[in-house]
Amino acid sequence: MTNSDRQIAQLIEETPFVDTHEHLVEESQRISGSVDLLMRCDDWTYLFSAYICSDLASAGMPATALQSFLGPNLSGEEKYKLVAPFWNCIRHTGYAQALLHTFRGLYGEEDLTSKSVPRIAEKYRDTVRPGFYPTILRRANIESCQVNSVQRIFMETEQPTLLLQDLSILPFCRCSAADLALVHAETGRQPTTLEEWLDVIDHYFATYGHKAVAVKCQIAYSRPLDFAPISKPRASRLFARHVGVLGHPLGSEDFKALQDFLFRYCVDKAGECGLPVKLHTGILEGSGFMELARIRDNASDLCRLLQDFPDTRFVLMHIGYPYQHEFIAVAKHYPNAFIDMCWAWIINPAASVRFLKEFLMSVPANKIFTFGGDYVAVEPIYGHALMARRGIALAISQLVAEGWIAQEETPELINGIMRGNALEFFPNAQRHETPNC
Ligand SMILES: [Zn+2]
Repeated sequence: MTNSDRQIAQLIEETPFVDTHEHLVEESQRISGSVDLLMRCDDWTYLFSAYICSDLASAGMPATALQSFLGPNLSGEEKYKLVAPFWNCIRHTGYAQALLHTFRGLYGEEDLTSKSVPRIAEKYRDTVRPGFYPTILRRANIESCQVNSVQRIFMETEQPTLLLQDLSILPFCRCSAADLALVHAETGRQPTTLEEWLDVIDHYFATYGHKAVAVKCQIAYSRPLDFAPISKPRASRLFARHVGVLGHPLGSEDFKALQDFLFRYCVDKAGECGLPVKLHTGILEGSGFMELARIRDNASDLCRLLQDFPDTRFVLMHIGYPYQHEFIAVAKHYPNAFIDMCWAWIINPAASVRFLKEFLMSVPANKIFTFGGDYVAVEPIYGHALMARRGIALAISQLVAEGWIAQEETPELINGIMRGNALEFFPNAQRHETPNC
């Protein structure tokens, strides 16, 4: 390590992240320990329930064993026996490394072994107490998180200055039976016409738009990102068939057209409110169902949207991995396309270092946000943030060593990509902007 590398690493260590993407549940829910669909157990294996479980499945762990491992019924010793044969297969992946850094940093444990498991179990329990969210986020040197709640369309959080919130537009444009049920549960409304459904959307924007940092949509999990313009009369007929008393199920082409209309309606509303639109792009979390051909078209599918809504700012999440080069081209070309490296550092740490280097030499540096843990649990954000800092340090150090950027330019660059860009870009990110919707 040269002196220059050390200075860069130290600066990155000292610079707080503005974390632009998490799915944190409320702290009080974690403390209550109530087990539900989101939280199948309240012990140390809860920390395996996002991402690592997918690597375990991919490594060959049988589904029944995985379910028992993540469930509430086995002892720590029994759970360790189930995971042990697969732990060494996955320990070098980004997902596992983030958890190992978390065990080291938060629990003082070097590894997952039969001996350390009882201590990790105890430290897990000791950690979960009132105030543990701000404590862990402070230790990770994170000044605020932007949360896309997986429980509510907009979460009225107990910690509003720490956990800023996205407004989820997924239920409005995916429009599945579960989405209709969620809207009914939250508002008591059961729309049967398109006008009534649009009224629901307007209600959410009017109620929460001025509090939100962005709108968020992960519809790429279920369909391509080519949203065609659809006339309102056609959308009205389709909506009536979709939810109306006639109950004729829509064919896939018609359902896509209805979603196209609703998505564009939400994008319009976001534009009116000055809210950026965060979109999931790239690889899908989970195992055994991804249609890669559809993911491969994410960047090119988005071009029409970027052209049709030139005044709306789009945040393309997860660098579109594994098609990140196309996202560099999109962000370079379109003034309204921005890139978020959330989740990317643990999907593929080495590719993320290369991506950041190439991005900074190709795209204006104000168009990137470099960290989001993308977790439901707060603990592993610590390990993920550590890996992101290491990756950012490697990318910047290499650019300096190779003579592409000067050492004296690095403080401003680092501050921008880790926090300044996000503070300037997202409404309400600094909590002193006037409501605009
Ligand atoms: Zn996410």
